[in-house]
Amino acid sequence: MKILVINAGSSSLKYQLIDMETESVMAKGLCERIGIDGHLKHSPLVGGKPVFDEDLAMPTHAEAIAAVIDKLTSAEYGVVASMKEIDAVGHRVVHGGEKFASSVRIDDAVMEALKECTPFAPLHNPANIIGINACRDVMGNVPMVAVFDTAFHQTMPGKAYMYAVPYEYYKNDGIRRYGFHGTSHRYVSGRCAELMGKPIEELKIVSCHMGNGSSIAAIDCGKCVDTSMGFTPLVGLPMGTRCGDLDAGVIQFIMNKYGISIDEMLNILNKKSGVLGVSGVSSDFRDLDNAAAEGNERAQLALDMFHYWVAKVAGSYVAAMNGVDAIVFTAGVGENSKSSRKAIAEYFGYLGVTIDDEANSKRGEDIMISTPDSKVKVFVIPTNEELVIARDTRDIVG
Ligand code: ADP
Repeated sequence: MKILVINAGSSSLKYQLIDMETESVMAKGLCERIGIDGHLKHSPLVGGKPVFDEDLAMPTHAEAIAAVIDKLTSAEYGVVASMKEIDAVGHRVVHGGEKFASSVRIDDAVMEALKECTPFAPLHNPANIIGINACRDVMGNVPMVAVFDTAFHQTMPGKAYMYAVPYEYYKNDGIRRYGFHGTSHRYVSGRCAELMGKPIEELKIVSCHMGNGSSIAAIDCGKCVDTSMGFTPLVGLPMGTRCGDLDAGVIQFIMNKYGISIDEMLNILNKKSGVLGVSGVSSDFRDLDNAAAEGNERAQLALDMFHYWVAKVAGSYVAAMNGVDAIVFTAGVGENSKSSRKAIAEYFGYLGVTIDDEANSKRGEDIMISTPDSKVKVFVIPTNEELVIARDTRDIVG
């Protein structure tokens, strides 16, 4: 079975074609500047075919999908003979609200339900919906599945997902913690259990997804019981450009003092805050590491804040679960920054965590970076959201 995994953004579309016999990626690529002019980078990973990396007109997502199918099936760049070889499509969808606690086969009723979730993710869900519609137009009756970033977190109990505001806002408007990065947390926690050789039902895991956007999840017996992102992905840890947790009074103070609108304020909190805002250097942790090494104190402060917050939130989840067996690091920073992992792990001395520096210096593989006698195991596990989407699609389509 071959499954096309699609992640559609407002002006971009990422894809992978995965052969489920071997769970290997046959081709992957990225359409950019959709609706502006258009560019496609398509990389075949089997058959020794060349990479296609050129401008292509993409007035809408439909042309983008058509270009992807064309390249996947072309004699020069293709990895399959025709579209008939693509058995199903799995779509990443950011927000499934309370309607979707697991992945679902897409039909007209699901499309309606997705639209109802749009107010919760006004920047992301419309792009996901456009991507699905474009695929349905171009690919006809090929079965399609939606896999939600929020679904894994739907097992959180009320005490974790409720905000302490008047209950009517939850009841009437769905105001609550939803959480994001669920597909990633689900993948790495499952893989962690495999690496430990134990059923996930017997494990307490703290999963730290640390990328441009970052979130932590508490996973007790395979079920998410708390997570740091909330109603939106703005909260929890300080991130590349997002502020993380913030006293709402600060928003009122800044807006009043500088006479800025709520939209401008949210733009600042989403795009100009986090480690970028504190350091004034960059949202990229590599730049921060370099600047801090050269003595930039604000870059060091931003890094210190990030590490402190990861340790603080992870520690609160150890309390919430009454223990922890393993801590997992994943995503751009978690997979690549040995200095960040080391700095965070130093806070975990109270758990009996000790880090093996040699293992911690490796990269690009699933690896345990704690010493064999460490009371709590610490892993680096490269995330693979596309594989989860492909597996769910296979399981649902059958
Ligand atoms: P996104 O949230 O956009 O999916 P990623 O998970 O790809 O982000 O993470 C991207 C971030 O990973 C970059 O902004 C950078 O800060 C960080 N990163 C990548 N490589 C390294 C590295 N070698 N050292 C430190 N940070 C890194």
